[in-house]
Amino acid sequence: MVSEVREVKMYINGEYVESSIASIFEVKNPATQELIARVHESSKEDVDRACQAARQAFESGPWRTMPVSERCQKIRRMAEIIMERREELARLEALDVGKPYPVAFEREIPRAAHNLKFFADFMEQQGGETYPMDEDYLNYTRYEPVGVASLITPWNLPFMLTTWKLGPCLATGNTAVIKPAEMTPMTVSLLGEIAKEAGIPDGVVNVVHGFGPNSTGEFMTTHPEVDMISFTGETNTGKAIMKNGADSLKRVSFELGGKAANIVFEDADLEKAIPVSIQAAFLNSGQVCLAGSRILVQRSIMDEFVTRFKKAASELIVGDPQEENTNMGPVVSQEHYEKVTSYLKIAEQENATLVYGGKRPNLPEHLQNGYYLEPTIYLQENPTARICQEEIFGPVVTLIPFDTEDEALEIANSTPYGLNGVIWTENLQRAHRVSHKVRAGTIWVNCWFVRDLRAPFGGFKKSGIGREGGKHSLEFFTEAKNICIALQ
Ligand code: NDP
Repeated sequence: MVSEVREVKMYINGEYVESSIASIFEVKNPATQELIARVHESSKEDVDRACQAARQAFESGPWRTMPVSERCQKIRRMAEIIMERREELARLEALDVGKPYPVAFEREIPRAAHNLKFFADFMEQQGGETYPMDEDYLNYTRYEPVGVASLITPWNLPFMLTTWKLGPCLATGNTAVIKPAEMTPMTVSLLGEIAKEAGIPDGVVNVVHGFGPNSTGEFMTTHPEVDMISFTGETNTGKAIMKNGADSLKRVSFELGGKAANIVFEDADLEKAIPVSIQAAFLNSGQVCLAGSRILVQRSIMDEFVTRFKKAASELIVGDPQEENTNMGPVVSQEHYEKVTSYLKIAEQENATLVYGGKRPNLPEHLQNGYYLEPTIYLQENPTARICQEEIFGPVVTLIPFDTEDEALEIANSTPYGLNGVIWTENLQRAHRVSHKVRAGTIWVNCWFVRDLRAPFGGFKKSGIGREGGKHSLEFFTEAKNICIALQ
């Protein structure tokens, strides 16, 4: 168990440094409200130093020009160090976010290491294209790094999502200024020392800390030395960032909010659909952009589904994130707790039926101040109700009945989001048909949250701009150059 209060500094040009304005903000453990970190806030001047360091490392450092194999070897070394420090990183992530330690240890920290290793390996296999023009000319392409990237990530999967951006950013020869969410800075701040130990040159990886509007986040997205912004977070924040980056024409890649439809047809194998739908609803206390937060259930099996789903939810162990057997911890903060629980009132006003949960769970003494809510299930006939349309981002899931395939599709496509969808059916034709018609970037059939890092990942509609994963990430982080040679 980690209990001391940590001092979290910025990492700029290869050194951990203090806030130039001596501004410190505090981070609390969401399970207890105990103080766990004092964080140095980055002023405009600090962000400027970080961006200048990244620019200098890009223009004059060895990073961009070193052989790809050497660069990728250093990135792979970062992945190895992450696995060597896996337990420490998982403990910190559980402490900071309130997620169960086993989830961080088994899934997120190994995935973070894999993010770096995958893009290092993938980059080494890349080539360009050639376009011969008869006998007279030969065109060939090169993919060159863009420059300085601002990488901005949310609080729900801080380390995993940051490395998801950092891997392709570094493998392609760019330099980075990273900002984790102010509520969860601890693991990401360690990327500085991990990069140093792996031999990444100073200035290539920089980490700053602070808030969004009129603060660190905004300074990073308006800074003239920043060429591109890779952002994961809320849709409204994405809009603000796009406006802020417009004056200097920064390229953007956005992974934004979601409100996935998890569609359960009457021929679904409920032995599989129930436990996976429980995961999709309540993993990380429902604070997952890909959460299956709307479960569309064919009316003919609704009663059976409700009984079994409710029983499975009641068996989840809600408790201390540091305990090995905990399935669900608190939500991340007081402010977020208020947002999530405000939907309980909205659900009541909209005449949803409470199926399970809806209150604070019984917890041991030391967790009495934590931001806990039981896994909560509503049944709502009206798919336009707010709990069916808005991203709650907490342990609250809504069951919506439907009669026909067309109706399921209409409901599934009725929100402004289009990040992902889930389909449960044993009918092959229906699986394909419905997958093609749900307007979302990823469709999982009879599974959820299975990721192949080569595959494109991103959202339709208000869930994002662009795709990450495999060659899609490399495209964002590179400039394509065509060279045309006269052969005569
Ligand atoms: P936010 O959009 O509030 O914050 C994300 C990051 O952006 C934080 O680091 C935040 O800083 C920063 N930020 C806020 N305002 C600005 C600004 N004006 N300029 C620059 N940076 C800014 O998201 P949350 O942290 O609340 O995360 C939850 C959201 O993330 C949900 O909508 C969820 O769906 C989405 N998400 C999407 C994923 C996807 O892949 N599509 C994956 C995971 C989450 P601060 O430190 O102040 O918070």
